[in-house]
Amino acid sequence: MSTTESTPVSNAPVLRMESVRKTFGGSVVLRDVDLEVAPHTVTALIGASGSGKSTLLRCANLLEEIDDGAIWLDGEEITDPRADQDAVRRRIGVVFQAYNLFPHMTVLENITLAPRRVHGVSRAEAEARARELLERLGLAGKADAYPDRLSGGQQQRVAIVRALAVRPRLLLLDEITAALDPELVGEVLDVVRGLKDEGMTMVLATHEMGFARDVADQVCFLDGGVVLERGSAEQVFGEPRQERTRRFLRRIV
Ligand code: ADP
Ligand code: MG
Repeated sequence: MSTTESTPVSNAPVLRMESVRKTFGGSVVLRDVDLEVAPHTVTALIGASGSGKSTLLRCANLLEEIDDGAIWLDGEEITDPRADQDAVRRRIGVVFQAYNLFPHMTVLENITLAPRRVHGVSRAEAEARARELLERLGLAGKADAYPDRLSGGQQQRVAIVRALAVRPRLLLLDEITAALDPELVGEVLDVVRGLKDEGMTMVLATHEMGFARDVADQVCFLDGGVVLERGSAEQVFGEPRQERTRRFLRRIV
């Protein structure tokens, strides 16, 4: 066996981006972005609207094609033209700001659709996993409800269950509380905290600075498509090095 094969990979980054560049119609939206996400850690992307947070997440999930640079998932270069993009997306769970549940399907049907259709899991197994997750996220009684019967916070928790149903390696969360009434934000953030405690690896874009400070192992401040500053939550929030970071945090906190 070669040394590379016997090297433990447990601490290798789950997600790695190197010199990622993304343009839309000539304007540069991500410039030379480097990112490393270690297993079982939470990375928070903060920054003003338009700074590139969503684009970064969409590139990581191959929803956007990058112009330059490379991205690895568990050591496999997923931006390699030969990579199986569908297989990559199956290993990444995504939750967006708008819950995007199918309105004509029950909660249980929403959650079991991908495991059954995409992952070939049996109905019984998919439903058992769905019910277990619903229970864990405090939604045990909602399996047969239609989305419009649920509060925004409940719908967003169902969206998280749906993302978890396929046992993703990595969870990407894009402003998942931004569309919620303030009194419903807490229950969704509590779910994210619980997932962190269980060791889920996550990258999240958020405007909830208190939450980012509390939950993130790594904070990246994006400014005009550049990761201008990164560090521990303590460092970035407590002693920001860049004037632009200080200005952003003064404005938002
Ligand atoms: P954030 O999530 O931080 O608010 P985005 O990643 O959504 O920022 O956007 C970054 C920049 O890219 C913005 O200037 C936005 O207008 C632009 N942008 C995002 N998506 C597209 C697109 N599909 N076509 C053109 N421009 C886009
Ligand atoms: Mg965004």
